[in-house]
Amino acid sequence: MSTPDRPAQQGQTGAVPITTPADQPTGGPAHPSTKLLVSVHNGHCHQYGICQQEAPEVFHLRSDTRLNYDRTPPAEQSSRVRQAARLCPMQAITVATR
Ligand code: SF4
Repeated sequence: MSTPDRPAQQGQTGAVPITTPADQPTGGPAHPSTKLLVSVHNGHCHQYGICQQEAPEVFHLRSDTRLNYDRTPPAEQSSRVRQAARLCPMQAITVATR
């Protein structure tokens, strides 16, 4: 029997950021003042996937039903990310700028 390439995360559901909270270079966004900061509340997200439909480059539901998302998407994703936040039935997505 083969061993899975990652440990089982039994009982875990929710959102998993795919970037670290630390500042990371983003390839030089055109408008630094509109840099996005996205967070998803683990306890609220029920993995409906509407966010992925609205902003597939930022949100991705994994096959294990956990949600991966980019915490610092490029500014050009702003309208899609904000629409995802508006349409999230659990109001789990927070979008801020800095
Ligand atoms: S739409 Fe909201 S509840 Fe559904 S997966 Fe996205 S963040 Fe989670």
